Amino acid sequence: MTPLPAGDALVLFGASGDLAYKKLFPSLYELEVDGRLDVPVVGVARSEWDDTGFRKRVASSLGAADLDTDQAVTERLLDRFLYVQGDYSRPDTFRRIRERIPDSGCPVAYLAVPPFLFDEVATGLAGVGMSDGGRIVVEKPFGRDLASARELNEILHRHYDESTIFRIDHFLGKEPVQNLLVFRFANALLEPMWNRHYVSSVRITMAEGFGVEGRGRFYDEIGALRDVVQNHLLQVLALLAMEPPSSGDADALRDEKVKIFRAMPPLQAADCVRGQYDGYRNEEGVAPDSDTETFFALRTRIDSWRWAGVPWYIRAGKAMAETYTEAVVEFTQPPRLLFGDADRLPQPNRLVFRMKPDDTITLTLQAKRPGASMVSEPVDLAVEYGEALGGDGSDAYERLLGDALEGDARLFARQDGVEEAWRIVEDVLDSKDRVHRYRQGSWGPPQADALMPGDRSWQASPLRWS
Ligand code: NDP
Repeated sequence: MTPLPAGDALVLFGASGDLAYKKLFPSLYELEVDGRLDVPVVGVARSEWDDTGFRKRVASSLGAADLDTDQAVTERLLDRFLYVQGDYSRPDTFRRIRERIPDSGCPVAYLAVPPFLFDEVATGLAGVGMSDGGRIVVEKPFGRDLASARELNEILHRHYDESTIFRIDHFLGKEPVQNLLVFRFANALLEPMWNRHYVSSVRITMAEGFGVEGRGRFYDEIGALRDVVQNHLLQVLALLAMEPPSSGDADALRDEKVKIFRAMPPLQAADCVRGQYDGYRNEEGVAPDSDTETFFALRTRIDSWRWAGVPWYIRAGKAMAETYTEAVVEFTQPPRLLFGDADRLPQPNRLVFRMKPDDTITLTLQAKRPGASMVSEPVDLAVEYGEALGGDGSDAYERLLGDALEGDARLFARQDGVEEAWRIVEDVLDSKDRVHRYRQGSWGPPQADALMPGDRSWQASPLRWS
């Protein structure tokens, strides 16, 4: 694959919005610190600012972020910012953008705006020749279902080639998520066991110990399946399940992820459980009779030689007992249990990728319990990355903004992958199936446990005597 040229300008649509303020400006600061930002940044929105007013807004965002700012870096960064006030429906807005960066041959347009504006912005950019040689970065959500995702793709493809469309799934920019890939393909040790012969199940959990936190209006239109399962958690599944890519380049990587999605059947209602926490309907902005799910659990499979017969479970919920994101790969039990204890059956080996709040990989093995009896006890071999390797890693947006500017598409979703992920969830998206209530601070509705056979649970599963 021919590498894309480096971007020579960043044009930020939605410059007055929440995402720009909370995430993008602080990330641009970090890129400036690392010397990865060497281009003008043109902010565009309807708010009545000039360059100075816009720079004040950026400075205020840096102040509000938890950053230890250096004055010289801040000044260098602020000098890059230019502002164009205008409506995206007016061609004149785009002419004025062009005038601010007349020599740019590879402008990177970042659309931090709702998807209904993608058409106007992409058309406006094309109208002043900025799609030729340029790139476009679009925020989630990428569609509400398969049809709307296809429509958005069609809109973007009118002006941009697929190789120049960067769809953000900020989850993929997180260090621990990238680490799934490195851990799997930089360690030959795992490969012989990474299949149906040794893995008995995989469970992915994204639990949030808080509710919708004032975002009720937005969330009520979306729900857990669209918000985090169709995108983030299916991506985690693909990273855990994919075959080794033929090379490290973006398309080789994304080809393998798409193959996994293609091997997954559409979800069936009988394999899904929807839940809603008590009190959700009283949240501000939420309809009093809302059936939107704040919890979603599913059971699925991958019909490939590697994974046939292995169940994959995903659950995501708000107002849960804890906040964490993890993937548990559970291995098969030994053929005979020699060192068990009738009261306390041992657990099978597990590899746990903890992605939030800490970035840890834990391998749970069995060892002899100290004392007279010959019974086993689980012991954890754990690596906490920050401790072992130092550094907190870069923030997801910093990583993704830097990659988009540099033309590295590895961590961005491709059209076929996005559409396949929608296909998988399509049949249960607007399901009229019952939404089970659950208590805030619990693990969701108990019906989710019934997705697993009796001897398994979302937490550890004890071994059975053969
Ligand atoms: P906001 O509503 O805060 O901001 C939207 C931006 O779009 C504003 O800058 C607004 O400018 C601009 N805008 C809207 N209509 C027009 C128009 N007709 N012409 C010109 N400018 C317009 O949204 P967010 O920043 O929260 O989100 C932006 C996108 O990013 C959304 O798609 C969202 O789903 C996504 N996203 C947001 C996250 C977040 O944390 N906020 C996280 C992940 C994704 P003005 O008000 O000046 O007109």
